[in-house]
Amino acid sequence: MTVTVVTGSASGIGAAVAKQLQQAGHRVIGIDRRDADIVADLSTAEGRDAAVAAALKACNGVLDGLVCCAGLGPTASSCGLIVAVNYFGMSELVDGLGDALARGGKPAALLIGSVASAHPGIDKLPMVELMLGRDEAAAKAQADAMANPQAAYAGSKYAITVFARRKAVEWGSRGIRLNVVAPGAVETPLLQASLSDPRYGEAIRNFVSPLGRNGSPDEIAKVVGFMQSEQAGFMHGTVVFVDGGMDALTRLERF
Ligand code: NAD
Repeated sequence: MTVTVVTGSASGIGAAVAKQLQQAGHRVIGIDRRDADIVADLSTAEGRDAAVAAALKACNGVLDGLVCCAGLGPTASSCGLIVAVNYFGMSELVDGLGDALARGGKPAALLIGSVASAHPGIDKLPMVELMLGRDEAAAKAQADAMANPQAAYAGSKYAITVFARRKAVEWGSRGIRLNVVAPGAVETPLLQASLSDPRYGEAIRNFVSPLGRNGSPDEIAKVVGFMQSEQAGFMHGTVVFVDGGMDALTRLERF
């Protein structure tokens, strides 16, 4: 039986990924701030260290899969918190569990990014380089000073995608695949919170994917399950948009 750590396993996409992996016969070690095998706060360095230590203990130091879903949307209580969870809550789990993955069977890791990471100009945000340079205090301060939750969200998703791609050469040589799935709008509590927020609700309702609907957590989880499986054994360092065509709509000639 393969063993996969899934963060954000209590809700939305993470819960759907955990359920589908379990139904396919895999053992899942869920991490979340509530209702999980490992309850931890991924917004703090201490919480992440505790999560990594507990996960290593639960899998006896050998891991076949890692799927990082835990994240916050633009309605989070601060921009710094978005950066802390969405970037450092993923990158530090990847770094902390890399050796365990290297000991696993045909190991694969996957990070949930976002179609928002492809928005024009996001790559130029100063907070992005601070995240990639692992300066958490400065990145959070920069995000809080900018006070633009959507930019913090998109910036954190862009940075975590670059983080994954920068690791492709090293992790490829260690035999660990690492990919990103970038969803569009998916019906989860995170999206619901944005829809209910007067700052974002109308814009989100008006930004409809070419398929004319939002995705479901199960639709994202099916792609994740495939990418984590041996059937996707040659997929590595790539970003897969699962967005009903939103990326095609907004970035027609860039891919
Ligand atoms: P969700 O709110 O349903 O689930 C997010 C999970 O992350 C929750 O269980 C929550 O408890 C957990 N989490 C948040 N902060 C945490 C912390 N500090 N420590 C531990 N766990 C924490 O949202 P979702 O839509 O399923 O989001 C999953 C991922 O998908 C996120 O990374 C999100 O950015 C991404 N995403 C979502 C959408 C969408 O439209 N729903 C679109 C693109 C990307």
